[in-house]
Amino acid sequence: MSHLVHRSLRADPPLAVRGEGIYLYDQAGREIIDGSGGAAVACLGHGHPRVIEAIKAQLDTLAYAHTALFSCESAEQLADIMVGHAPGGLTHAYFCSSGSEGNEAAIKLARQYFLEIGQPQRVRFIARRQSYHGNTLGALSAGGNAMRRAPYAPLLSPAFSHVSPCYAYRDREGEESDAQYVARLAAELEAEFQRLGPDTVIGFMAETVVGATLGCVAALPGYFPAMKAVCDRHGALLILDEVMSGMGRCGTLHTWEQEGVTPDIQIVAKGLGGGYQPIGGILVHGRVIEGLNGGSGAFMHGHTYQAHPVACAAAVAVQQVIRDEKLLDNVKAQGALLEQRLVERFGNHRNIGDIRGRGLFWAVEFVTDRASKAPFDPGLKLNERVKQEAFARGLACYPMGGTLDGRRGDHAILAPPYIATPGQIETIVDRFGAAVDAALASVQA
Ligand code: PMP
Repeated sequence: MSHLVHRSLRADPPLAVRGEGIYLYDQAGREIIDGSGGAAVACLGHGHPRVIEAIKAQLDTLAYAHTALFSCESAEQLADIMVGHAPGGLTHAYFCSSGSEGNEAAIKLARQYFLEIGQPQRVRFIARRQSYHGNTLGALSAGGNAMRRAPYAPLLSPAFSHVSPCYAYRDREGEESDAQYVARLAAELEAEFQRLGPDTVIGFMAETVVGATLGCVAALPGYFPAMKAVCDRHGALLILDEVMSGMGRCGTLHTWEQEGVTPDIQIVAKGLGGGYQPIGGILVHGRVIEGLNGGSGAFMHGHTYQAHPVACAAAVAVQQVIRDEKLLDNVKAQGALLEQRLVERFGNHRNIGDIRGRGLFWAVEFVTDRASKAPFDPGLKLNERVKQEAFARGLACYPMGGTLDGRRGDHAILAPPYIATPGQIETIVDRFGAAVDAALASVQA
């Protein structure tokens, strides 16, 4: 047995020994397509020579310098790339080592902003049920994934409350139109502001496209503008978590570009460094920075490895490759093909209730029956079976189980690297389709 704490303490996972392009290889020499880029991380695939070169060059010149003493070129360059052109009014970037750390930084920066501008009574956040913002205690408090929260509930912060996500497949009522459903969700957010006391709320936090917990669920048109209007009415911030859905995954560099809103604070990670180094961060609107500048002029938060030179050098290279190789065009083209093939394969499948996504970020949701949308019994662990059957066919995908609150079924995510070719997309869907059928046959046996 291994001495490493794995996700399971009872079974050792296969050993990944090499990666090249969209493929991973295990110790037995098996070739596995990385069909979900891990958890939507490996946007460039594996072993990209430009990124490796950049990491080596950074190590050769400067591996580390503490940010209490120095800045470094790669971090400055990454900030320029991310916010040098002030996308949506975002003018400043802070880099850390993960998506969870990014969410913690967003939470603390937002609180500090209101302290600095003389609104210390703002102490509450409104987030959404069935969301995921990370596993550290602040991020887990923001998250609305009942299963992940349950064991730690006594440790979580009461500063966070939750409203419904925009999940049209299950939560739209009867004959409700898009506009009526959005209006109902905006009214729910407004009611939560009123319940808490509108001037006590710091901000509303949401994943722009819900990733792991619901499976690639984008909001309906008009949803984010309606939610932002509620925030604006009460002077609260809009905080968008694009850790999984952003950095090109959904076809535009930032997913909010498709939503008609700009966030006050945005959290990024995963595709920022593509897995070549651990890196996440927040992008901050100019007016929030002005608030801080008018007060203490400092961000009272930091980590030893923030803006790490090597992590930033890797992310700079990843972002340059995405731009130079015009990979967002490929995300759109291969994403359209992936959608088409998934619809052909599963559009009439009795156990697939919904096929949804954007760009190269797609999921299918499993149901026992399309009419009732009833989920499978979580005890059957359909998600685990899909993962195993896919693996046996040389495909890594990202399946998740139903939630404790029974509000959705199992789903599986496909999030291929942005470099995928049409032939590789076809192979991914072929293997995925066969794996899904085998997993369903095993639970129905
Ligand atoms: N937010 C979202 C939307 C995520 O998907 C994740 C990771 N799955 C996180 C935050 C946490 O990121 P990390 O695992 O890097 O801490």
